[in-house]
Amino acid sequence: MFSLQNKTAVITGGGSGIGKAMAMLFGKQGAKVHIIELDIDTATATVGEIQQNGGAAFHHYCDVSKQHQVVDTFNGIGQIDILVNNAGIAHIGKADTTSEADFDRVMNVNVKGAYNCLFAVIPLMKAKGGGVILNTASIAATVGITDRFAYSASKGAIYTMTLSVARDYLHDNIRCNSISPARVHTPFVDGFIAKNYPGQEQEIFDKLSKSQPIGRMGTPDEIATLALYLCSDEAAFVTGCDYVIDGGFTKL
Ligand code: NAD
Repeated sequence: MFSLQNKTAVITGGGSGIGKAMAMLFGKQGAKVHIIELDIDTATATVGEIQQNGGAAFHHYCDVSKQHQVVDTFNGIGQIDILVNNAGIAHIGKADTTSEADFDRVMNVNVKGAYNCLFAVIPLMKAKGGGVILNTASIAATVGITDRFAYSASKGAIYTMTLSVARDYLHDNIRCNSISPARVHTPFVDGFIAKNYPGQEQEIFDKLSKSQPIGRMGTPDEIATLALYLCSDEAAFVTGCDYVIDGGFTKL
């Protein structure tokens, strides 16, 4: 079940958190994993861990917000069966407290970065007769998290881009889905708490954990398991869907 043998998977932001868990699991399941990262140290470390486990992995320094870097990197990889558009950054602020520079920064990475990867990968997938794309959205896409105006807007764009791509390339044998986690305990969350609530780290961590109906944050491995299913041939009937994985956050 859920073998990725003979598949080449590209994972953006694969050096840390959710992307790292996906890279590790995809490598374990037989995929040749290419990590696209700004942080070359974490990318190199993750590649090393995958190789130590007997898997095949490569790292590429690339800023997803720069189209020429993404196109060159993807063309260099050549055959790509699976793309996970996962790189993303967070931001705190409401519409009137988000600067233009911060809005542009979030959109450049979270939205333009995903678009750049789609722009680069779709011709490659069409040329080889198909592929699978998974976009990391967030529950922010549909609920609009308090004080996360730019971030929520960026994830709303990811949610809708998923539908457009699924529709436009249905007959090119390209499936496209998204996942929408609630809070997952990753360096993204730790960094966010440290930056915005210095000295209150444990208190805020506990508060955020308890704010989820299930009483804790998700783990990167739990998200990676869902991603594995969606990127595997077992999910051949699944396209144009957003999979919420949120410990009950949106419904309970
Ligand atoms: P993380 O910060 O641990 O990892 C993100 C990785 O993306 C980092 O390694 C970073 O170097 C890389 N990255 C950032 N900008 C980049 C760029 N321009 N080009 C290439 N790489 C870049 O974050 P995470 O928590 O694992 O989050 C991964 C994804 O999941 C993000 O899209 C995030 O919005 C989404 N998400 C996270 C949570 C959560 O609670 N952690 C919840 C919902 C959705």
